Amino acid sequence: MPELPEVETTRRGVAPLLTGRIFTGAVLRQPRLRWPIDPELAERLAGRRVRQVARRAKYLLIELDDGATLIIHLGMSGSLRHLPADTPPERHDHVDLLLGEHCLRYRDPRRFGAILYCPGPVELHPLLVKLGPEPLSDDFDGEVLFAACRGKTAPIKTVLMDNHVVVGVGNIYANEALFAAGVRPTRPAGQVSHEECQRLAAAIRATLLRAIEAGGSTLRDFTDAIGKPGYFQQHYAVYGRDGLPCHACATLVQHTRLGQRSSFYCPHCQT
Ligand code: ZN
Repeated sequence: MPELPEVETTRRGVAPLLTGRIFTGAVLRQPRLRWPIDPELAERLAGRRVRQVARRAKYLLIELDDGATLIIHLGMSGSLRHLPADTPPERHDHVDLLLGEHCLRYRDPRRFGAILYCPGPVELHPLLVKLGPEPLSDDFDGEVLFAACRGKTAPIKTVLMDNHVVVGVGNIYANEALFAAGVRPTRPAGQVSHEECQRLAAAIRATLLRAIEAGGSTLRDFTDAIGKPGYFQQHYAVYGRDGLPCHACATLVQHTRLGQRSSFYCPHCQT
């Protein structure tokens, strides 16, 4: 599943291909993804110039010159490619956003993604309005995290993955940041110290930035009709490594489930 680094890498990939360009229409081969796609999308997009491609949490925001925004979520399996518009579509290529002789093509085998047209201020859209701070912005730090943890008995990992506290910290990065900060994922959030929250906030930022850099260097490009853009493999300290020795101390990494999500930790390095 694309997490925040993959979405940010996608944004960086497609932004130069879209910014300043004018949409000429859209082709919908599938009426709905997770939600129905606006059937008038082609008419709404035609003639509109792209001001910029932004991101909020895991939503890509294609901002148009009339104040409207196209919100794209990649769901479980979505990807975007920039192709000649006459490239024959394959089975899961559900939507083309037309840019003259090229198109931005949306593929999504599992159709859990979304393409939503938002005519008004996008920050007030119901999907975005209640989101917590961005983890890479100045609005999130150890103070914010410590305040959010006060009085909470839920596991710290569950709190890190709560979009009201901080957005975009998915299961992989919550596991990795908790290892880097030396905090066990099962610990009640209210018992995590101020200093540990500082370490956690820094670890979240570092873990996400490292993944974004890895994406930027391993990603091929968004113009390759054959490649699979937007996803990249990384080496993890604990994620997916249950039963294997911890890189720091050789204790075997443990696995547990928290809120249906797989959680991995080193019982020696994380207390
Ligand atoms: Zn260890």
